[in-house]
Amino acid sequence: VRIPLDRASPVPLYQQITGFLREQIRTGSLAPETRLPATRELARLLGTSRVTVANAYADLESEGLLISRMGSGTYVATPPGGTDRAAAERSDGDWPLWQQRLLTSTWLPAMRELDSLLSATPGPDPISFASGMGATDLFPIVDFRKALAAVLREADSETLGYGDRAGNPALCATIAHILGAQGIPARPEEVLITSGSQQALALVARLLLHPGDRVLVESPTYPGAIDLFRSLDVHLQGIPMDEDGMRVDRLEEGMQSGRARLLYTIPTFHNPTGLCLSAGRRRQVLALAQRYNVPVVEDDFAGDLRYDGRALPALKALDPGGWVIYTGTFSKMLMPGLRVGFLVASGPIYNGLLALKRTTDIATSNLMQRALQAYITVGRYQTHLRRACRIYRARRDSLVEALKAYMPEGTRWLTPQGGLFIWVRLPGDLSATELYPLAAQEGVIFAPGSLFYPAEKDQPYLRMNFTLYPDSMLHEGVRRLAAAVARAREPGRRLPRRPLPAQV
Ligand code: PMP
Repeated sequence: VRIPLDRASPVPLYQQITGFLREQIRTGSLAPETRLPATRELARLLGTSRVTVANAYADLESEGLLISRMGSGTYVATPPGGTDRAAAERSDGDWPLWQQRLLTSTWLPAMRELDSLLSATPGPDPISFASGMGATDLFPIVDFRKALAAVLREADSETLGYGDRAGNPALCATIAHILGAQGIPARPEEVLITSGSQQALALVARLLLHPGDRVLVESPTYPGAIDLFRSLDVHLQGIPMDEDGMRVDRLEEGMQSGRARLLYTIPTFHNPTGLCLSAGRRRQVLALAQRYNVPVVEDDFAGDLRYDGRALPALKALDPGGWVIYTGTFSKMLMPGLRVGFLVASGPIYNGLLALKRTTDIATSNLMQRALQAYITVGRYQTHLRRACRIYRARRDSLVEALKAYMPEGTRWLTPQGGLFIWVRLPGDLSATELYPLAAQEGVIFAPGSLFYPAEKDQPYLRMNFTLYPDSMLHEGVRRLAAAVARAREPGRRLPRRPLPAQV
C-alpha cells in the first residue's frame, strides 16, 4: 500500500492514512478480504510511528471498514452500505480542462459501439453471430505452445532483444513464400511485420493522410478502418457496392473530384458483406488508381479462406509497381492474440512506414514472431488452412440452410464464397439496430449493419459470423433470430420512421 503523506499538512498523519484507506475501501479499489500490512510493517514503509498506523486502523475498524482477526491480521471488510463505485467516477467537469476538451471529440468509435452492444447483452450465454474472429477452438494451441516453449528454451540475446525492426527476417521470408504461393509477388525486404494488420492500416494512414483529406472506402466497410480514418480527421467517401463488389463507376466519380488521397478496399471476402470484387473490376480499380494518382490499400484479412469458386488475383498481384500497399494478418487464420500482421509495400513508402513503425512501438514482439516462425512453414500453414476451410465451408452451408428454413420471406443474402460473414438484409423496413434488443432477449446477437457505414445510422442489414458454432447451434441461433423478427413485426410495434436504403 503506497499512501501519500503530506508532512507539512496540518492534518495529522493518522487521519491522512484513515482518509486514504477509507476512500480506497469505499470505492472498491481495496476489495473486501484484502489483508492489510501489519501495523509495524506499514509504519516502517511510511516512516511513521507504529501508534500512528494503529490509530488509523482503529478508526477504520470502528467505522466497520476493517476487521482484525486474532492471530491472522487486519482485513478489509465489506463496507456498510456496499462499495460505491460511482464515487470513484468523476463527473465530466471534474477533469482538468485539457481533458475536458477530449470529451467533445467529434468521432464516435464504431468499435466501441459494438463492444458496448455486446457487453449490454442480457441472458447467460447468447448465441453470438457478432464476432469478427475465426473459431478459437481451431487455433493450433498445442503446436504453438511447443513452438513458444522451444523459443523460450533458447532464450538467446537475439530472442530477448527487440530483433530486426522490420520483422524477423526468417518470418518475412516465410510470408513472402506463402504470398508467392498465392500469386502475390513479394520480396522479403518488402514485408514489414506489424502488430496486427490494424497497425499496418494505421501506419499507412498516418504516413499518407492529413486532416481534411478525402479517403475512398467501400460502403459498408470495416469499422476499425472507419474509426481509424475518423481519428485522423479525414473525410470518408463511401463507394456503394453491388454483387460484384465496389462499383467502379462510382469509384471513378470519387476519384475525379481530385481530392481523393487514398483508396482503402477489402476486395476479397469483404468485411462485412463477404463479397469479392470481380476480376474485371480489379483491373479497372488499378487503372483508375494510376489515372488519378491515388494509392490503394488492399486489406486482405481473410483472403485465404476460400470455400468454393476460383481464386481471383489480388490487387497486389496486378500492381504494375508501387501502387498497392497490401496488408495481411495471422489473426483470422491462427489467432488474433498473436498480434502479428504484416504489410507489403514497394518503393520509398516502405522506409517511411518502417520509420513510423519505429516511433510507434519500436518493433512487433520479437518473441511472438520467433514462435510463429518456429511454428509456421508453408506446408503447415496450408494444412491448417485446408482444415479451417473444410470446417468453415460446412458451417457456412449450415447457416444458409438455417436462414432458408427459419427467416421470413423477404429476407435476402448473397452466399459468400469464403471469409467469415454472411450479410443479411432483413425483410421490409426493419432496422437491425431496432431488432438488436429483441434478439438479445431471445438469446441471439449479431453485428448491426449501421456499424459498418461511415454515416448512415438505421440499416436493414446485419452481419452474421458463421465460423464459430457447430450446425445445431447455428440453427438454434437463426431460429431465435427469426423469433425476434416475428416479434419486431407484430402489428402495433413501432417501425423505423423512414424507408431504409436498399443497397447490397
Ligand atoms: N481488417 C479487417 C477487415 C478486419 O476485419 C480486421 C479485424 N477484425 C482487421 C483488419 C485487423 O485485424 P488484426 O489487427 O487482428 O490483424
